Amino acid sequence: MLRERFWERYPLQELSTEEWEALCDGCARCCLQKLEDEDNGEVYYTAVACHLLDLEQCSCSDYRNRNRNVPNCVHLTPERTAEFYWLPDTCGYRLIHEGKPLPSWHPLQSGSKATVHEAGISIRSFAMLETGDEDLEDYLMDAL
Ligand code: SF4
Ligand code: SF4
Repeated sequence: MLRERFWERYPLQELSTEEWEALCDGCARCCLQKLEDEDNGEVYYTAVACHLLDLEQCSCSDYRNRNRNVPNCVHLTPERTAEFYWLPDTCGYRLIHEGKPLPSWHPLQSGSKATVHEAGISIRSFAMLETGDEDLEDYLMDAL
């Protein structure tokens, strides 16, 4: 059971597993391949999504085994908030970690999972699935 407006009342470390999962808006932006500038650590997103992503649903097709099948898939936990800087600035976990409100299109605010797609936040409309043959630098995005 989700506590009423839990995201405004409790820190990430005090959320139940169900509440933690509900913070994810289902955008799948974190499943895009990224390139990191070795000099300054800056992270750049590409339009190429992990091959395990179900692009239509914007969900992982093998969530349970994701860390085994995709070694660089990062399992977000309350203990890893220091790493959240690489997440997109729309991500529910990053927003709450930074003390910001959830936007109106977030499913917890709207009551519908569809709003993340309708607002153009999810990657469904523009991403492609990786084949392994891409040169990721060709797919760098200016902004998400
Ligand atoms: S970027 Fe954040 S909110 Fe979006 S799918 Fe990934 S974890 Fe969920
Ligand atoms: S393994 Fe699943 S959760 Fe991880 S990046 Fe790929 S599609 Fe996303």
